[in-house]
Amino acid sequence: MKIHLRQIPQDTTVHLTDELDPAFLELDPEEATAITPVHCALDVGVSGGGLFATGRITVGIRLTCVKCLNEFDTTFVVPDFAAQVELDGRESVDLTPEIREDILLVLPTHPRCDADGRTKCPATFRSAPAAPLTEEVEPSTWSALDQIKPKK
Ligand SMILES: [Zn+2]
Repeated sequence: MKIHLRQIPQDTTVHLTDELDPAFLELDPEEATAITPVHCALDVGVSGGGLFATGRITVGIRLTCVKCLNEFDTTFVVPDFAAQVELDGRESVDLTPEIREDILLVLPTHPRCDADGRTKCPATFRSAPAAPLTEEVEPSTWSALDQIKPKK
């Protein structure tokens, strides 16, 4: 996201929004694919020879669950993006590296499709043999009781 300083009036902040092509995220296609543009909503101002920007960044990303290997889509939000850049007489500032860095920070290293707390990961069903095993124990318990009964 390039910001031209002439867009920004002195002593105030401007609200800038932009939709960035997610190619700059350079995600490993084996692990993650951006499925929406990177949406930036930033308040940008200039003070003391520096440019500062704060705001919110959102992007939709398709990840592969490490447990069930299914692909799932999640919207990632950087709720409190903040960057400060020295101006050095420049006329424009490119915040793309800062935006990329913050998005990469919110991406999970071991994505789970049930990380949202609503999805049931199919792999957790498959790897839950505890219930059937307990049921299998019961018949032998009953037959043990049957063996006791006739002795009465
Ligand atoms: Zn899963």
